Amino acid sequence: TRYVYRFGGGVSDGGKGDKNLLGGKGANLAEMASIDLPVPPGFTISTAMCTRYYEEGEKFPDSLRAEVANGIAHIEQVTGKTFGNAADPLLVSVRSGARVSMPGMMDTVLNLGLNDATVEGLAAASGDARFAWDSYRRFIQMYADVVLELDHGAFEEALEVAKEDRGFTLDTELSADDLRALVAEYKKLVAAEWGKPFPQDVHDQLWGAVGAVFGSWQSERAKVYRRLNDIPGDWGTAVNVQAMVFGNMGDTSATGVAFTRDPSKGDRAYYGEFLINAQGEDVVAGIRTPQYLTRAAREEAGARPASMEEAMPEVYAELAAVFDRLETHYRDMQDIEFTVERGKLWMLQTRSGKRTAKAALKIAVDMANEGLITRDEAIARVEPQALDQLLHPTLDPNAHRDVLTKGLPASPGAASGAAVFDADTAERWAADGKAVILLRTETSPEDIHGMHAAKGILTARGGMTSHAAVVARGMGRPCVSGAGTLAIDARAKIARVSGREVREGDTLTIDGSTGEVMMGEVATIQPELAGDFGTLMEWADGVRRLKVRANAETPLDCRTARDFGAEGVGLCRTEHMFFDGARITAVRQMILAEDEAGRRVALEKLLPEQRADFTAIFEVMAGLPVTVRLLDPPLHEFLPHEENEFAEVASAAGVGVEQLKRRAAELHEFNPMLGHRGCRLGVTYPEIYEMQARAIFEAAIDVAERSGEAPIPEVMIPLVATKRELDLMKTVVDAAAQAVFGERGRTVDYLVGTMIELPRAALKAGEIAETGEFFSFGTNDLTQTTLGVSRDDAARFLGAYVEKGIYAKDPFVSLDVEGVGELVSLAAERGRATRPAIKLGICGEHGGDPASIAFCESVGLDYVSASPYRVPIARLAAAQAAL
Ligand code: PEP
Ligand code: MG
Repeated sequence: TRYVYRFGGGVSDGGKGDKNLLGGKGANLAEMASIDLPVPPGFTISTAMCTRYYEEGEKFPDSLRAEVANGIAHIEQVTGKTFGNAADPLLVSVRSGARVSMPGMMDTVLNLGLNDATVEGLAAASGDARFAWDSYRRFIQMYADVVLELDHGAFEEALEVAKEDRGFTLDTELSADDLRALVAEYKKLVAAEWGKPFPQDVHDQLWGAVGAVFGSWQSERAKVYRRLNDIPGDWGTAVNVQAMVFGNMGDTSATGVAFTRDPSKGDRAYYGEFLINAQGEDVVAGIRTPQYLTRAAREEAGARPASMEEAMPEVYAELAAVFDRLETHYRDMQDIEFTVERGKLWMLQTRSGKRTAKAALKIAVDMANEGLITRDEAIARVEPQALDQLLHPTLDPNAHRDVLTKGLPASPGAASGAAVFDADTAERWAADGKAVILLRTETSPEDIHGMHAAKGILTARGGMTSHAAVVARGMGRPCVSGAGTLAIDARAKIARVSGREVREGDTLTIDGSTGEVMMGEVATIQPELAGDFGTLMEWADGVRRLKVRANAETPLDCRTARDFGAEGVGLCRTEHMFFDGARITAVRQMILAEDEAGRRVALEKLLPEQRADFTAIFEVMAGLPVTVRLLDPPLHEFLPHEENEFAEVASAAGVGVEQLKRRAAELHEFNPMLGHRGCRLGVTYPEIYEMQARAIFEAAIDVAERSGEAPIPEVMIPLVATKRELDLMKTVVDAAAQAVFGERGRTVDYLVGTMIELPRAALKAGEIAETGEFFSFGTNDLTQTTLGVSRDDAARFLGAYVEKGIYAKDPFVSLDVEGVGELVSLAAERGRATRPAIKLGICGEHGGDPASIAFCESVGLDYVSASPYRVPIARLAAAQAAL
């Protein structure tokens, strides 16, 4: 097998289709080279080598030597320089590149190929001794950190000391001789800490760096990032070795990053940052504050330093032409890295740019309207889960704001929480259920877990493409970056700004859309659902087959759900209504009753309450189906648990404390989830279901009489295992319907159906469908009973199960398609065989999970039902599943 693929100088061994093999960076470098964009020549060692490297105990096969030698020869031939040649040396960069980008997670080495001899050659060839020695000093520092894994603090200290000794503040003030002395200092540090002299053989340097990049695939931070982003550990990374180009060769040189459209708002405008006379990671690292790319952006921000458009008009024009070329070629917004070396533009990377949900929507809709992509592609481009970012509240413009300071609007959305100054505290507090805002001077990949745990991120340094900004946008966390007036003392856990202090635990609010940082909590408002969101949803609705309903049991939830586009209620859990205010007393009285007559007295009190609940819901859902599930949970859930509650409840319910306690003890169950619940309540106490059914039909007739638009109640029996259970319960419901219809002199259409949430029900679905007019898959319980995993206790061990690959994802979040899914598809098939027109839906949590929705489409369910905020996610996911 071949492991090395060349690019540049008219050669492209790969292309954009080879991401799995070459990684995103390598594939796109080859692609850019193939369309004649200016790419420094290089080669990619494939991800297959990474896999093999680990299989063989972190060793390279001998055959790789010759392949890499060929790769180097290719670079030498195109550049006319020779690797290790003391007269005019070839220098290379060595970078990682996985299939999907993992920003800042893995290692990079720049300026490789410098040693005591070649540094002189570089000085002579470039005519710039300062540049050559600065490059060598940077190389030793990076190599020591990344490859030799020495403490980088010592090197930074040596640099600081060198500046202090000479009374300088900036690195750039150091002369060639100063840097030469610093290099000597660095080499001493390496020899002392590593025990061997800094490697002078450029081939040793190269193999060391390649090994380090492969090694970084298994670094802790890379593992954490993969876990958070569902990236399989066996993908591996590729290694890209490429001729160096220099953005730090004086004022006609520069380096920058850019997006072909605004990645935050999605506007069609070039967007980016650059630094004159700077190298590689300076822009991304947030060390110097970068300058704007375009004049318009600079003017809008009221910034002074010239934009690239103004400072380097010719190269800028060339760059803008490349942007357009890349967008039409890739048909997507691109995220680009470039370097200008003495007036010559070089492209170092392109990839589809990460973007906020807002930008994703706008870009997809705009590109479809521009004719660059089709509407179907626009639908496919937006990650359904990302809509979540848009559906959540933003700051109320009228609310009082105690503004502390302002930074850059790095990732939109508003968040309030307690200030914390380190990632570990953020994670701990969040685990305790606290909302936190993570404050850092700047973030690094080590902060990832804290950023994930935080509701928002605030940094004092760094631009819009800083680590904090990029990672926060990817995670959908609001972020304000570069709040320059903020002085953060992480050790003392204090931030100071304009004479005020923020201490750990103080509540802060950040607005990632404006960059404002406020003291205290600020009120929020609901998001705007028109505009691009509305347009894309309309397109999605045009292609989806699955209907989308909501799980809702209050008029407010129903309203929200309708606003989000729900086409009915798929699950109204009536037990939630039993807890409300005064009625819990009647519920308890019913439970405590010793016989049917006693229960009926209590149920009489509940009837008008239930009717009012259903009336309110039916009014909001007029004309749409509403699935009402009859009482499901074990009765003891309604009884008091705390000692002090007993007396109160006993007197309210008019019974003695002792009687209450005795009854509570009687109702105790060892395994209530498999106990006296669901239709078992209806079988033993049919009068409960009778009352609920009566309330449903009376409410339906009331609403029909008042508005003329009758709802379509679907009465649902929970936890059915056998046809006989459903037969008995349907008789109770039908009798209640006939009684109400007789009393009121009119009828409404209704259905009686069942949940399929036990394996036996799934297996016997053919028989159950003789009675059931619809099935709703209760995949929460069906997962619990199929896997034999308690949904309330799973958190303790499921994490380990997912980590060890036993389940790919938490099966309570994303349907276990292979196992539980087989029961669903089998039940759907058997149900339809008996009753071809049977209505099939899903109302477990999986109804709002895009992957599970794709499965529902594949087995031809009629609808999915999700919590109100996930209704838009479900609409888009259903459309994508139908494409
Ligand atoms: C289910 O079991 O999937 C379901 C929707 O019901 P609940 O979550 O109320 O048990
Ligand atoms: Mg259930």
